[in-house]
Amino acid sequence: MSEENKSIHEFDLNLICDYFSNLERQGPGSPEITIKALSFVDNLTPQSRIADIGCGTGGQTMVLARHAPGQITGIDLFPTFIELFKSNATKHNLQDRVKGIVGSMDKLHFQNEELDLIWSEGAIYNIGFERGLKEWRPFLKTGGYIAVTEASWFTEDRPAEIEAFWKDAYPGIDTIPNKVAQMQKAGYMPVVSFILPENCWTEHFYAPQHAAQDIFLKKNAGNKTAEDFIANQRHEEQLYQKYKAYYGYAFYIGKKI
Ligand code: SAM
Repeated sequence: MSEENKSIHEFDLNLICDYFSNLERQGPGSPEITIKALSFVDNLTPQSRIADIGCGTGGQTMVLARHAPGQITGIDLFPTFIELFKSNATKHNLQDRVKGIVGSMDKLHFQNEELDLIWSEGAIYNIGFERGLKEWRPFLKTGGYIAVTEASWFTEDRPAEIEAFWKDAYPGIDTIPNKVAQMQKAGYMPVVSFILPENCWTEHFYAPQHAAQDIFLKKNAGNKTAEDFIANQRHEEQLYQKYKAYYGYAFYIGKKI
């Protein structure tokens, strides 16, 4: 990558980070659904060690911490998100149990069999579902749990427009039975999978973006990259409204065997 490209790339990332920093969540989900997923995980104690990979600013991490015992480490690639994550933990008075570190999900620094639970909402796609399940497995104790959300097809056949969009955005998207089979193949007993309700997208992910988009466009007036980025976000939301019968996120929970 040339230096020129690199600096444009970094500039884009800063813009995207800035946009998402103003939002409580950086992906679809909700407190109710985090709590529901947690209800399938047993045996956690104050000594348990939990990792939240691709935690963003920690929207779901703080919910986890309020409803589960144990020490939680949030990991995200972006230092800005981790700064906000830390102030979020302090705001909720969880700073003694919830730590945030900058790091990449493809180079995690946990010990073998250190973790009782690996959590990851809307983030495993960054290295791919199968690769993430496989590479993170050694860090889990036998009998420990993994709980991730992942983009999934709800039907066997889809309209061409949405098929093409996802082929470009994340070719790893697959049907729920195929994802469950991948989880089993990676060495986990599938415990449960369920589809995230529509309000995880509409109310908790897209609605808060509307005001953020207006503020962001004002702040970056005349900046073509920023305008294109917002146009993209709006297009994604329109596609969701049009094709939500065909895709969404599902939670996949498995137990290391
Ligand atoms: N879990 C949060 C949520 O549900 O609100 C954030 C989800 S957001 C869609 C994906 C997150 O993955 C972002 O915070 C992004 O910075 C993080 N991410 C991307 N690549 C990563 C990597 N290689 N290692 C760790 N985090 C990464």
